[in-house]
Amino acid sequence: MQITQDILEKINHYDTIILHRHMNPDPDAIGSQVGLKEIIQTNFPDKRVLATGYDEPTLAWMASMDTVTDEDYAGALVIVCDTANTPRIDDKRYTSGDFLIKIDHHPNDDAYGDLLWVDTDSSSTSELITLFALEQELEISPEAARLLYAGIVGDTGRFLYPSTTSRTFEMVAHLRSFDFDFAGLSRQMDSMSSKIAKLQGYVYDHLEIDENGASRVTLTQDLLKHYQITDAETAAIVSAPGRIEDVSVWAIFVEQADGHYRVRMRSKALVINEIAKRHDGGGHPLASGANSYSLEENEQIYRELQEVAKAK
Ligand code: AMP
Repeated sequence: MQITQDILEKINHYDTIILHRHMNPDPDAIGSQVGLKEIIQTNFPDKRVLATGYDEPTLAWMASMDTVTDEDYAGALVIVCDTANTPRIDDKRYTSGDFLIKIDHHPNDDAYGDLLWVDTDSSSTSELITLFALEQELEISPEAARLLYAGIVGDTGRFLYPSTTSRTFEMVAHLRSFDFDFAGLSRQMDSMSSKIAKLQGYVYDHLEIDENGASRVTLTQDLLKHYQITDAETAAIVSAPGRIEDVSVWAIFVEQADGHYRVRMRSKALVINEIAKRHDGGGHPLASGANSYSLEENEQIYRELQEVAKAK
């Protein structure tokens, strides 16, 4: 593809490359960001390649970020992975470089960057980074393979979601051929702490499900404190309602310290990202996030979910 060649040309051209990804990172955000860093570093050992952003403690097993100074951005190439819109880019210095590339698989509602590679048919950005390496015949280190594999497993719900294609399997087949601790990684991604197990119990116990399969649960600050759960750790229970047969669409309302709600919305088949867009959010057709600023807005979002479920 021309686009992967264009990206490689830019990488060739710059001595310093700084990689960004989205806030509240998930395995695909870190996997694509640091997986690409590893690939560039392996193939261009003389370049300075840096990954920036908040070090999310629950994903410390994947990678840690570098210390990036303002001076590092002078004349640098900046690549933002897995981030649909500029407000969600972690580390606002992404505009301080010389050239900006966006690589993503979310709907391209905010087409930022000097060069864009957006493929909404891709399961994950990690799948795109793997494709980039294969097409451009770049060496993949076992560590890059581990990170990219984790990213793909994360964003496909371990190959359960419809975004999983034959190309996804081609990419993971290739990644699996490298020598990384596959069993350890799989166990890591499948295990949960006992406090998360208890929270999952709460979610199953308190889930409201209507006659059309629309479902919701609210996690208040008091509850998160009770279970000693951070906002980021709620990622571990977001897919739980989807395991129930009757549930078709669901929302988890997570109260934030400032009183507003992060709304994590998921669907088995019906499109829900339009709802998210109406409420200060966005995302994929079947996995989106929104923000709600009152209990009334929580009710409104749930009503909109119910309407989608009813109309099917
Ligand atoms: P989450 O529930 O936070 O895991 O988000 C699910 C999906 O929705 C991810 O692909 C996010 O990129 C997207 N998303 C979450 N919150 C927002 C937001 N405020 N604006 C745009 N997209 C979002």
